[in-house]
Amino acid sequence: MPRELDAEVAVIGSATVGSMLMWQLARRGVQAIGFERHAPGHDRGAVGGETRLFRMAYAEGAQYGELLRQAVRYWRELEVESETALLVQCGGLAIGELSGAYIDQLLVERADGGRPIEVFDRRAAHDHYPNNLLRGGEVAVLDRQAGFLRCEPAVIAAAETAEQHGATLLRHTRVDEVLERGRPRRDPRRQCGVAGARRGCCAPDRGPGGCCRRPGGRTSRPGACR
Ligand SMILES: Cc1cc2nc3c(=O)[nH]c(=O)nc-3n(C[C@H](O)[C@H](O)[C@H](O)COP(=O)(O)OP(=O)(O)OC[C@H]3O[C@@H](n4cnc5c(N)ncnc54)[C@H](O)[C@@H]3O)c2cc1C
Repeated sequence: MPRELDAEVAVIGSATVGSMLMWQLARRGVQAIGFERHAPGHDRGAVGGETRLFRMAYAEGAQYGELLRQAVRYWRELEVESETALLVQCGGLAIGELSGAYIDQLLVERADGGRPIEVFDRRAAHDHYPNNLLRGGEVAVLDRQAGFLRCEPAVIAAAETAEQHGATLLRHTRVDEVLERGRPRRDPRRQCGVAGARRGCCAPDRGPGGCCRRPGGRTSRPGACR
């Protein structure tokens, strides 16, 4: 096979996680090779569709605060590098019962100093957002930094920017199997990243350090699995 397949890290799947991983590795100078059974930006993965919600007010736990701030930084960096608009922070409203678990948690996190939100009771919500009808007992919580991500362009931007930084991405290349080498890795830097909710189709839970068998029985790096 004439194509050079050697790399420090192999990434299987180049959608939400895989494309961003490739971008982050490549911009740090790590040699990465990606395998994607379709092409970045396809509509057959979890990432398919035009947009995904982005929120800074996150009721799922205070530990997400720093991650979300970092995420905004990275989205803005990717926008600059790819010259593509990806994250639109137009603000977002969450509507629910004041005593409900979701709103309650948002308020707890605000009290902890974490999340910049504004709370509107039913009357104030009607004045500011008359197209949203609140029921008795409900409030509207405004997260000014919420918005949406253009997810398919985001995946394409990350994959192409990774390639510009020197990563190799094999499109329309499905990985069927990830093999153990059966003994300690000679090169501890070489790893195998697996992306996607259905990763079991190609990689049972074996952890890093495997190698990839492409359809037809070839390994991703001939010789790596000896
Ligand atoms: C309806 C819906 C709404 C959502 N809303 C939001 C939201 O508002 N905000 C939010 O943050 N998240 C949201 N999510 C979750 C988010 O979209 C997913 O968590 C995310 O896309 C998962 O990314 P992933 O890279 O793990 O998987 P995927 O995006 O599915 O990527 C897996 C990739 O691996 C490739 N692949 C799989 N097997 C192989 C193989 N054997 N060989 C080569 N390539 C392979 C696939 O083709 C695919 O490109 C939503 C998800 C859904 C379904």
